Amino acid sequence: MSSLYVDGQWQAAASGATREIRCPADQQVVATVSEGGAQDAQAAVAAARRAFDHGPWPTTPTPERAAVLTRVADLLEAELEEVARLESLDTGKRLVESRIDMQDVIGVFRHFAALVQGEAGQVVDTGMPDVASRVVHEPVGVCALVTPWNFPLLQTSWKVAPALAAGNTFVLKPSELTPQSAIWLLGALERAGLPAGVANLVLGTGAEVGAVLSEHPDVDLVSFTGGLQTGRTIMAAAAPTVKRVALELGGKNPNVVFADADLPAAIDNALTAVFLDSGQVCSAGTRLVVEESIHDEVVTELVRRAKGIRLGGPFDEDAETGPLISEAHRAKVHAYVEAAVAEGAQLLTGGEIPGGDLAGGFYYPPTILDGCTQEMGCVHDESFGPVLTVETFSGADHDAAEDAAVAIANDTIYGLAGAVWTQDAGRAERVARRLRHGTIWINDFHPYVPQAEWGGMKQSGVGRELGRAGLHEYVETKHVWHNTRPARADWFADRG
Ligand code: NAD
Repeated sequence: MSSLYVDGQWQAAASGATREIRCPADQQVVATVSEGGAQDAQAAVAAARRAFDHGPWPTTPTPERAAVLTRVADLLEAELEEVARLESLDTGKRLVESRIDMQDVIGVFRHFAALVQGEAGQVVDTGMPDVASRVVHEPVGVCALVTPWNFPLLQTSWKVAPALAAGNTFVLKPSELTPQSAIWLLGALERAGLPAGVANLVLGTGAEVGAVLSEHPDVDLVSFTGGLQTGRTIMAAAAPTVKRVALELGGKNPNVVFADADLPAAIDNALTAVFLDSGQVCSAGTRLVVEESIHDEVVTELVRRAKGIRLGGPFDEDAETGPLISEAHRAKVHAYVEAAVAEGAQLLTGGEIPGGDLAGGFYYPPTILDGCTQEMGCVHDESFGPVLTVETFSGADHDAAEDAAVAIANDTIYGLAGAVWTQDAGRAERVARRLRHGTIWINDFHPYVPQAEWGGMKQSGVGRELGRAGLHEYVETKHVWHNTRPARADWFADRG
């Protein structure tokens, strides 16, 4: 078993340990992979350090770096079906969704290949004839890239593509639950001609491998996507060596629906917002914030539609959404629903672990909790499952209704994403500007483009991914002042 990739070599874990990967849809073993530990992480950091300090990659011309990224995109295009299948087996998500994710990954690699070729420094005009002054961008160094299980290759591509484009070296630690597409990616980078040591892969747990990477003095940057608690731990671990830290954390994303919205579209999108991928989406619209006058109409229809959503495994063509990632995660989601009911939320549909044909997987039904208020934990805590909380707002007039909606939607420690539904264009713009979340959709939910930035406000993160800013997370900015007529400073008298 050789599924770690260190210094250009596929190798087993130093301890010889392995891990079985099971599909969450039926618990069948779909792969056995090496389970790395602290020793493997140390070796990978050393390889990435050597490749950065002494290897050719940081100074490889940008067209050649871009060519490697383009080659990865080409390989994925050619092998899309197989990689999508691996992703579905690891995550349990429907094959059709994995195919869409793979198309997104291709777009991300192509985006950063194009972006880095247009990357230019800046000449600073000092107005002094003997000085040439410029601002240049250089790679940060060794990057630790730690990724979650919900969009395994897509989240990884958001880090790997800009890190490589900017000339960095890296150690990747994907989620221990979903390693297969990362193994494919490292193989693709090898085939694309990346020099040894630039890209390294260590599989294993966050506590073992992730902890070493985030505190290691030879790591210059840690970029992490995952849960808030883990983000806090990583930030603290990175502090003693003052690493750069980029964090993409959780969300508790409001979906605000005004009475003047196009209701059929708003209701349909509200379902996708929260139940897509069984709610295991950081930007899921888990909080419906609906104007009181349309509450009954909207909620009745949502419940009717939610009851009809079909659950099933990756290759079930009738299924509309899949299982949760693990038994432990499903237990957490179920406990969250039970706690909400205990707090006084009304369970309108869902909330029970299904049996029958679905008993072999970690399924959880689309669940709607009505009558939720800001005092309840369920509107503040992330469940990361298919659970919608419903809150209402009202106001004596147009402005008061907007104020009430914005106050509820912003009352969260998170700030990742949100949406506003209204047919009043002015109101849409006003509310969008006032919502303190990193992405706001107006009359839509979920779409993103690699050209735009992605990232959270407040405790949803630090730093931005994608877009131009995504590349800038991975570069150091340096001002070079070139005095072409050096002279004595004459500041201190020479009393020799
Ligand atoms: P998680 O925090 O449990 O794990 C994410 C990764 O961190 C895994 O690779 C894990 O092994 C590793 N890890 C765990 N402990 C670590 C430690 N002490 N040091 C270093 N690494 C450690 O998150 P998860 O359960 O895999 O993913 C779900 C979470 O991710 C949700 O909260 C979700 O909102 C968030 N998420 C955010 C975004 C975003 O773009 N903001 C995207 C996807 C997921």
